[in-house]
Amino acid sequence: MSTQQKDRVAFVGLGNMGAQMSIRLLDAGYDVVGFDPADTARAALVTAGGKSAETAAEAIAGARYVILMLPSSRVVEAVLGDDNVLAALTPGTTVVDMSSSEPLSTVELAKAVEKTGAILVDAPVSGGVAGAQAGKLTIMAGGSEESVAAIADLMAPMGVMTRVGDTGAGHALKSINNLMAAVGLLVTSEGVAIGRRFGLDQELMVSMLNASSGQNAATEVKFPKFVIPETYNSGFRLELMLKDMRIATGLASAIGVSAPLGERAVEVWADADKDLGPGADQTEIAKWTFNQ
Ligand code: NAD
Repeated sequence: MSTQQKDRVAFVGLGNMGAQMSIRLLDAGYDVVGFDPADTARAALVTAGGKSAETAAEAIAGARYVILMLPSSRVVEAVLGDDNVLAALTPGTTVVDMSSSEPLSTVELAKAVEKTGAILVDAPVSGGVAGAQAGKLTIMAGGSEESVAAIADLMAPMGVMTRVGDTGAGHALKSINNLMAAVGLLVTSEGVAIGRRFGLDQELMVSMLNASSGQNAATEVKFPKFVIPETYNSGFRLELMLKDMRIATGLASAIGVSAPLGERAVEVWADADKDLGPGADQTEIAKWTFNQ
């Protein structure tokens, strides 16, 4: 724990990821004021040594940095579209949207934020709840070189940041990553389903795949940790993965890129989402595939 108090950070969205990321900032000495509509989320931040606000605008007033870790662009738009929030932003404030948001929405929001004199940088993450807890997230930043450099110290306790382009570039890359991760998890589930039905042992199969060219993030982490032990508790909801896949395929179609495999994968994940219902973990796509 640092002894010197650093700048004030408003942290908006204290869910699976935000709870862990805000603790990393507290441990690094930042003065963290959080807001989340869930009472339990705010209480957890206070227990960890942070402060709780009753609204996003209250958390943002007087903050040097504003971090958003919210479910979707619709929620980010609602927060940044609030007049009280816009009034609380001042020149010198940097808003960092670390949610997995839609790049074209981010470009528009950055313009609205700039009218207040503040700056918006997109800095979504990969690495999941375990990466957030360990401060080992991969952070993909979009914005000017100057504005990304200005958040380097703030990001350091949460992971390793790389500037990947201008505003929206981080959100574009994050959605592309998750489309690829989702296709990998689905095809791994289908491969293991075929092997199981044929009589192969799934644990042996996954360990052989990890020493072969079919190896991917699902064989390496998701199957051994969450599918084979049937815990299905990766901390990333299936509906959020589907949201990210749609961001990538939506971007592809908006800019005229053909992505037929991604489009088909969205349909399959949407069927699983419908069958499994709200709250299902992403890794339950494997169980769902085995039962088809
Ligand atoms: P989550 O649903 O656990 O957390 C979101 C939080 O936002 C909830 O606590 C919710 O109450 C809060 N919220 C909703 N509306 C709000 C509002 N108006 N103001 C303030 N807070 C509000 O989701 P999560 O898993 O923490 O994911 C957050 C973001 O990070 C998503 O965009 C997700 O796609 C992305 N992400 C998640 C993971 C993961 O492994 N969980 C990994 C990388 C990226």
